Amino acid sequence: VGDRARTSGRTRTTCGYCGVGCSLEVLTRDGEIVAVLPDHDGPVNRGHACVKGRFAHGFLHASERLTRPLLRRDGLLTPVSWSEALDHVARGLRAAVAAGGPDAVAAISSARATNEENYLIQKFMRVAVGTNNVDNCSRLCHAPSAAGLTAAFGLSGGTDSLDDVEGADCLLLVGANPVEAHPVVGARLLRRVLHGARLIVADPRTVGLAHHADVHLRSQPGSNVALFNGLAHVMLAEGLVDDDFLRHRVAGLPELTALLAGYGPDRVAALTGVPAGDLLEAARLYGRAERPAIVYGLGVTEHLHGTDGVRALANLAILRGAVGTGHGFGINPLRGQNNVQGASDMGALPDLLPGYAKVTDPAARARAADVWGAPVPDRPGMRIPEMFAAARAGTLQALWIVGEDVCATDPDTVRVTEALETCPLVVCQELFLSETARHADVVLPAAAWLEKDGTFVNFDRRFQRVRPALDPPGDARTDFAAVHALASALGVDLGCRTPAETLAECARMAPLFAGISHERLDREGAVSWPCPDSLRPGEASLYRERFSTSDGLAHLAACPYLPPGETPDDRYPLVLVTGRRWAHYNSGNMTRRTANLQLEGVDLLDLHPADAARYGLGEGDPVTVRSRYGRAVLTAHLSDDMVPGQVFCAFHFPSSGVNTLTSRHADTVTSCPEYKVTAVRLIPGCV
Ligand code: SF4
Repeated sequence: VGDRARTSGRTRTTCGYCGVGCSLEVLTRDGEIVAVLPDHDGPVNRGHACVKGRFAHGFLHASERLTRPLLRRDGLLTPVSWSEALDHVARGLRAAVAAGGPDAVAAISSARATNEENYLIQKFMRVAVGTNNVDNCSRLCHAPSAAGLTAAFGLSGGTDSLDDVEGADCLLLVGANPVEAHPVVGARLLRRVLHGARLIVADPRTVGLAHHADVHLRSQPGSNVALFNGLAHVMLAEGLVDDDFLRHRVAGLPELTALLAGYGPDRVAALTGVPAGDLLEAARLYGRAERPAIVYGLGVTEHLHGTDGVRALANLAILRGAVGTGHGFGINPLRGQNNVQGASDMGALPDLLPGYAKVTDPAARARAADVWGAPVPDRPGMRIPEMFAAARAGTLQALWIVGEDVCATDPDTVRVTEALETCPLVVCQELFLSETARHADVVLPAAAWLEKDGTFVNFDRRFQRVRPALDPPGDARTDFAAVHALASALGVDLGCRTPAETLAECARMAPLFAGISHERLDREGAVSWPCPDSLRPGEASLYRERFSTSDGLAHLAACPYLPPGETPDDRYPLVLVTGRRWAHYNSGNMTRRTANLQLEGVDLLDLHPADAARYGLGEGDPVTVRSRYGRAVLTAHLSDDMVPGQVFCAFHFPSSGVNTLTSRHADTVTSCPEYKVTAVRLIPGCV
């Protein structure tokens, strides 16, 4: 592809697919990757890697890679030079600000981009444009984790590390399928179970690890809060709590105790579909364990009451005294994308600056203004769904999207596409002409993770280095270079000449990362945040002395169960849950252009054989799925892992239209979409 520099060698970097953060060794010869090997010294993967990290790199050389900027002329995206493209964008941004002020511009940063790129993007929006309208795709996945864990404990991250979790004697795995979505974590958890740890799985489907579970809680999609309240009820009723910890380090017990009186096993069985006996057994296993750990995924967060779900789940760890005490391994979210933790850490959020300082806090703004030499806007900006709503309403004049295929992966994509078509200027930085890029006015050719320099933060808060194994093809540039070029086109100097300088600036501004630098990471491999001092190690396990809340206490939350936004009815009698498969990654723009396509070539609809019989469907039959919002055509896959009345599919092939189906409901606290509960009906064939 293009005139890629001829490079040969061996490069140590961090996987750019999921949030596990496996260390990889990339072998190149004459500008081509010849092998990707798991690094035996990798702090997270220790010599393992999955089918994505090891083999899904063919996309780098795909003939459809974008190698020149594209500008829409007479309705067609036409190749142009970078200077023509940037002039057009700069003119458009100036016009947008002139028409509607700085808040008429918004940016969607990228969980696939490095920390340094995310830092630069949010700095560009705040300094060069003058708005807090910047968000990232954590809005669509773990924003409820950030909100829920911060409210409970004070910091926006898991409480412990994967190494800690491996020491657990009881694992509570909730709403996650790590065997497919985070395979190296799945393998490490399975090894722990095979070595004797007890396992409770809470998931509507029989996910991979459920086959090894002591108890499988098959709760109805959307009933998490009732389930967690039921477990807490049993723990309190049977004295399976840490009284000393509750007395000295916890707030909110009386309110929670009062609420839990209404969540006895029989009522919870009626709300969740989980038999009372299973609930009792799970609560006793978790409550009696010496070192219990909770690991959870998007099955907890992507709900109308996702933040309540995180709070209600955190209650279990607090009641048991399993966080901040050394007697358990807390509560740990499995982050989805490679750098979704880092994108938020770097302040690519509408209400938070780097290191989670609030934009509404005058002292935090003053600190940032001091480092940046420019004032910081004080009004929180728009979240991603609000950006699309503003575009449809005509108030958003310019939208800059970095490495996110929002027309394929956001919910209710028909309305997302309408928003892009209405917005006067849409700029996209992409590897390929994605569904989103097709609707852009300007498309800037981007570099992939194997062509970048910087750092990622993985799901357990570890900073790790990302190093380029190849140069980008043709005129493609890193997002880092593109942001600088765009700032220059506007006459703004962002400083931060190199990724190392950029992380150093972030460290000066954010005490959580003050002790972390490229130089240190090159020497030590990985450092966890918080790390306030370059002479101290990062903290893999949090809150040993006090919690980071204002009063130093862990906060229990009394969250009542509320029903999901979508409920089945006669017209839409089934519940659709979406998620990932093992060979592909999100919208599939990368993995579909690799040999992994031979492993999974279509989006399947998993359904129970009884439902298949009801609809006259056999294995491999085409099936049309309809919801209140849209229509998708999938391939039927009969599976005993499903419960009758529920169906499951992934969203790796945008042409199947899965996210036209997903609903408009979103978490009431964070606006995270309710991907996990959509009422649908099936029609055999493609209609
Ligand atoms: Fe990459 Fe995740 Fe697979 Fe590790 S488990 S190789 S980080 S996709």
